[in-house]
Amino acid sequence: MPLADILDRIRAEEARVGRAPGSVQLIAVSKVQPLERVVAVLEAGHRLFGENKVQEAAGKWPALRERFPGVTLHLIGPLQTNKARQAMELFDAIETIDRPKLARTIARLKDELGHCPKLYVQVNTGEEEQKAGVLPAEADGFIAECRGLGLEIAGLMCIPPVDEAPALHFALLAKIAARNGIGELSMGMSSDFETAIAQGATHVRVGSAIFGERDYG
Ligand SMILES: *Cc1c(COP(=O)(O)O)cnc(C)c1O
Repeated sequence: MPLADILDRIRAEEARVGRAPGSVQLIAVSKVQPLERVVAVLEAGHRLFGENKVQEAAGKWPALRERFPGVTLHLIGPLQTNKARQAMELFDAIETIDRPKLARTIARLKDELGHCPKLYVQVNTGEEEQKAGVLPAEADGFIAECRGLGLEIAGLMCIPPVDEAPALHFALLAKIAARNGIGELSMGMSSDFETAIAQGATHVRVGSAIFGERDYG
């Protein structure tokens, strides 16, 4: 099945670029996919998934988690502050921390709930108007601000512009992470995850190459 092919390609690229076997984790992006496709991937033994909307994830994952213990769920889409509580209860990681107001809300809820998902800061490496994420020049300051609020930043995440070669964006994200002492890098999707692995990705987010094309109709 496509899942096994993608895992093979990840292992092959790790080996090719001299990364330790298993150092890259596959986040299967299940947004908008029919439930039976998601169940098939769970039945194949995969447990790490990504969703980009809180509401959509809330509608399917609580029941799937009961059926398939050991699921880890990452939020990879933009988060509104009014959904932060729900997101913190539902997700094991939030990859899209990108502004002070959201960081402050999460810091407050962390104290209130007594737990906090793993947090990544999203960086808008292409400085695209329509895209979420902090600008590269503001990343160091924002990471410091998050840490000042008592938030641990485990990783960085980016979505490069569709019309540019992704390698330079991945390299930029890796550089920002290195100078801030951040260990995890969520980068690379169906079309470019091997390039991301060569640039140091610890997590690749692959949707359509595993599940097939998304049907938004
Ligand atoms: C949908 C999505 C992906 C997966 O994209 P594919 O091209 O289907 O692999 C990865 N990351 C984010 C943030 C997404 O929204």
